[in-house]
Amino acid sequence: MSTGGKPRILLMHPILEPGPTILAEAAEVITYPPDRPLDGESIKQAAEGCVGIVSQLMDPIRETVLSIPDLKIVSNVAVGFDNIDVAAATAHKVMVTNTPGVLDDATADFAFTLLMATARRIVEADNFNRQGHFKGWAIDMMLGVDVFGATLGLIGVGRIGRGVAHRAKGFNMRVLYYDPHPLPPDAEQQLGATRVDLGRLLAESDFVSVHVPLTDETHHLLSTAQFGQMKPSAILINTSRGPVIDEAALVEALKAKKVAGAGLDVYEREPSVHPGLIPMSNVILAPHIASATTRTRSEMSAMAARNMATAIRGGRPPNLLNPEVKK
Ligand code: NAD
Repeated sequence: MSTGGKPRILLMHPILEPGPTILAEAAEVITYPPDRPLDGESIKQAAEGCVGIVSQLMDPIRETVLSIPDLKIVSNVAVGFDNIDVAAATAHKVMVTNTPGVLDDATADFAFTLLMATARRIVEADNFNRQGHFKGWAIDMMLGVDVFGATLGLIGVGRIGRGVAHRAKGFNMRVLYYDPHPLPPDAEQQLGATRVDLGRLLAESDFVSVHVPLTDETHHLLSTAQFGQMKPSAILINTSRGPVIDEAALVEALKAKKVAGAGLDVYEREPSVHPGLIPMSNVILAPHIASATTRTRSEMSAMAARNMATAIRGGRPPNLLNPEVKK
């Protein structure tokens, strides 16, 4: 359904310029009421008659939504697409796109920010100072752990994991990685990264940083058994997706001092954070902001809008995840 000759699309949440301008040139854009719940039935009602949906990671785009008769494309403003049932989309001949690449540096920077901040207790130290506890230099005050020369274990070395490895080189870190897809030998050499199994990575790393997509295989990839394999002095960083880590098991491991600390950007039941994590001063809790720089979020918005505009004009969107729909 459309008015004024332009096909209609549903924008689930605001995006940054130039995204809205690109969308408005190609389509009649309707927006999702911000007070409406984010469930399949409500999204389906709002998207009825639309050829496209611009979605974000909190939008469940599954069978209910994907069966809308006119729907041609779902453009996700994220690299992760675990909120979309891609197999169901393919069955309904609905294209799915994401925004890979443009957020690699911002996300890798942020993983490293969490790593440094957790190692050197920066949030705790800032609170300590603001609360008036700083009474002068002391030899044993706010002791942290060394980053330079430490061992970093990367779980997943795709675009973002590699970016973190690249940063780790500057800190003279020994980099281990676990990934079913080995890096090409020249990339391994350039990054100074050694492929190991997960058990060895957990046993030898001072920092473990997670960079896998959320899939059936990676759900709870790290749970009680894996935390038990980590060094008690090790710090866990997660900027991937919350459910990759069993959050309740992490709370228990932190309480039992099987893991020394954690820097988290993502949570199992966002926006909820496990209540056990809240009082822990050795844990940094960021509100899912790893890609949140002005440039990156603007580029993600533009990329998602271009994917949408290309598809509704009959073309093949550059970041198509299910090419079999568009032969
Ligand atoms: P990518 O596809 O380039 O890399 C993912 C890597 O994980 C691949 O090398 C893959 O082989 C590996 N992998 C898959 N299953 C694995 C397993 N079971 N064990 C070990 N490795 C496995 O993806 P990317 O662009 O690097 O992004 C990774 C994820 O980071 C995204 O899927 C997204 O969910 C998340 N992300 C989060 C934020 C944020 O704001 N916190 C920002 C960007 C990306």
